[in-house]
Amino acid sequence: MPPDSARWERLIGRFARRAEGSGYGLIVQPVFEHTEVFRRVGEGTDVVQKEMYEFVDRGDRALVLRPEGTAAVMRAFVQHRPATPWKVWYVAPHFRYERAQKGRYRQHHQLGVEAIGTDDPALDVEVVAMAEGFLRDLGLRDIRLLVNSLGDTTCRPGYVDLLRAYFAEHADRLCNDSRGRYPTNPLRVLDCKRPECQEIAERAPALFEHLCDPCREHFEGVQRGLDAIGVKYEIDPRLVRGLDYYTRTTFEFTSSSLDAAQNALGGGGRYDRLSEDMGAPPAPGIGFGLGVERLLIACDAEGTFALGVRGLDVFVVDAVGGDSGFEATVVLAHDLRETGLRVDRGFGGRSVKAQIKAADRSAATYTAIVAPEEWSRGMVVVKHMESGDQHEVPRDEVGAWVRTRIDSAGARA
Ligand code: AMP
Repeated sequence: MPPDSARWERLIGRFARRAEGSGYGLIVQPVFEHTEVFRRVGEGTDVVQKEMYEFVDRGDRALVLRPEGTAAVMRAFVQHRPATPWKVWYVAPHFRYERAQKGRYRQHHQLGVEAIGTDDPALDVEVVAMAEGFLRDLGLRDIRLLVNSLGDTTCRPGYVDLLRAYFAEHADRLCNDSRGRYPTNPLRVLDCKRPECQEIAERAPALFEHLCDPCREHFEGVQRGLDAIGVKYEIDPRLVRGLDYYTRTTFEFTSSSLDAAQNALGGGGRYDRLSEDMGAPPAPGIGFGLGVERLLIACDAEGTFALGVRGLDVFVVDAVGGDSGFEATVVLAHDLRETGLRVDRGFGGRSVKAQIKAADRSAATYTAIVAPEEWSRGMVVVKHMESGDQHEVPRDEVGAWVRTRIDSAGARA
């Protein structure tokens, strides 16, 4: 709600500037998708298994409220086949059926990008740098960027076998969940948050040491690029992220000013096989999603990206009343708005005192008062609210008069 929503709008504006400055265009998508879009690509994941809002519509279609962005964007790509590389950004509500708490909601919003059509590591660097730059734009400092490579279908299966054997050796010390999970999905055990599992995971074999040559070269390219532009990152061999479709580069931004359980601001990675998983020709891609609510919580915790609401330029007050006051203020407010000024006014024939109070509340820089004697001479009383200075200004010149002063005050600031 206003006034907080002003900050929301500004945050999205900053992101749009970053994304559009790197050649990404806005994609606007439906809030619901066919269940299958997510079901097919996220079989072993919590987001798809346990957290989707699913329903059947009147036409017996199985639908879900969008739980995450990447598969939805890939669905659009596969359906419309735009020229590649196809680079898009989005801001959209996402839905997860979970226990709501601070920083974890059943509807949250994500800002993200997806870039589809090339596996060039320069694209990975561009995407990671865009997210990093945006977090810097917000003034966030207590941020860690974790990076890993998950390999591909050549090198990952061998590594997964190795990992399974390692966890089998230590199965008696894993938590119940992980003990049940490691035979089918040992990668997920790497990001189990239980201390007993973390201790074992810490000494597990690292995937980036078992990459095939093309994946190793790709990962080295990403690191070389990030080094060249001075983006600071840590390689985290346990960063596997929640969704099954990731290949090669994965990354995540965490904030030390958030609670440990909800400290991820967002992240993403490469999904070079996702298009094929959807039954379409190959189309490698990479993207990320950042949680808007979490970003704002982190900004509050770091005391940055303050609300900074700008008041209105002019508040129009009717001190004449009756039909002539009605007409005069309707025309004045309209004309001022047409000049591009931000204008509000009093309504409902309220007393001058009540209207001035409303003007104060609106934090308008100026009040334009249509007063009986001055109006009869074609003049409006323009008052600078902070200093109390008053001037009589010809009614057709109020807009230009205010504009000149606001622009020169802006230039001084
Ligand atoms: P994910 O798709 O799970 O990697 O989520 C990407 C980002 O979205 C997370 O890092 C959070 O910032 C945010 N996020 C995910 N789930 C939620 C939620 N339930 N409530 C609020 N933010 C969320």
